[in-house]
Amino acid sequence: MIARFQEIHAGITRIDVEYTRPGFAAAWLLRAGDQAVFVETGPLPSVPILLESLTRQGLTPESVCGVIVTHVHLDHAGAAGELLRHLPNASLYVHAQGVKHLVDPARLVEGAKVVYGEARFLATLGGAVPVDPARIRTPSDGETLTLPGRLLTFLDAPGHCLNHFCIHDSQSNGLFTGDAFGLSYREFDGGMRPLILPATTPTQFDIEQSRATIGRLAALKPDWLYLTHFGPLRFQPEFAEDLDAQLAGYARLGEARELPISVPELTAELIELTRLHGERIGMPQVPDWELFAMDLDLNAQGLAIWRERALRRAAG
Ligand SMILES: [Zn+2]
Repeated sequence: MIARFQEIHAGITRIDVEYTRPGFAAAWLLRAGDQAVFVETGPLPSVPILLESLTRQGLTPESVCGVIVTHVHLDHAGAAGELLRHLPNASLYVHAQGVKHLVDPARLVEGAKVVYGEARFLATLGGAVPVDPARIRTPSDGETLTLPGRLLTFLDAPGHCLNHFCIHDSQSNGLFTGDAFGLSYREFDGGMRPLILPATTPTQFDIEQSRATIGRLAALKPDWLYLTHFGPLRFQPEFAEDLDAQLAGYARLGEARELPISVPELTAELIELTRLHGERIGMPQVPDWELFAMDLDLNAQGLAIWRERALRRAAG
C-alpha cells in the first residue's frame, strides 16, 4: 500500500499524484527552513494534492519559493500553470528549451493527445494552464539554487527529450531524475535489485544522448534516486549498466526496422526484451505486463520516431 504522502528523509516528502494508478507518478516537496520547493507537479488534476501536502507539513502557499519541473511532459509539468496561481512567491524553474511549451501549452496538449489518445488524455492529463513568462527561471547546466540547509544543482540531461534537466540535492546526495534515469515500479521488487527500464517516450528521444546522460548521472555517485516513476531508490551502479544494456537492445531492435515501422510489433519486442532483463536480475514473480503496457507502448512510439528520423537523415 503506497501512502499518498510519504516523508522520505532530509525534509523530502514524496507525493503520489495518483496519475493513472497509485505508485506510478510522484511529485516531491522539499523543506528548507521555513521555505519549500516542489520538484515536479504531476498533471493538471494534481493541484489539490500538492496544496494538501503543504498543509500537512504546516507550510503555507506563501512559503513556496520554487516549483521545479524536470521537463515539460504533462505528467511532470501539467499542473505548473494552475499551481503557480496558488503560490504567490514561487518562481518556476524549467529548462530553457521547455519555456515556450509552458507559456503556450497548445502544442504540448495536441502532442499528448496524439501520443496517449484523446480519451486517455482527457481522463488522466486533463490539459494545461499557461504559465506567466515573468515567473519563469531557466537555470543552465551547473547552476545552483541556494536554500536554507540545501543546495540544488541543475544538470542538463538530454536524451529522454531535449528540455530535460535533473536536480542534485546536497542535503540527501540525491538526484531528482525525472525520466532521464528510467522507470521503476515497486510492484516488481524482490529480485537481485529493482527492475529499472528506460523511458524512450516521443518525440525527441535519442539513444546516444540518453546513454551519455545515464553515465553522467551515475558518475556523480548519488546515494538516492528520486525517480518520478517511482522513487526513491537507493542508488546502485548496476542500474546504469541495466539501462545501458537495455538501450543497446532498443537500438538494435530499432535499427533492424525499415519504414513503415509497426509500433505494435516493436512493442511486443520491447516486452520480450524487458522480460529477459527481468529474468537476468532474478525478478521473482511473473510480472503483470499490464502495468508496463502504457510505458512500453510509449517507448515503442519514441523508438520508432528515433528510427524514422535516422532513416530520413540518411535519405538526405
Ligand atoms: Zn514521465
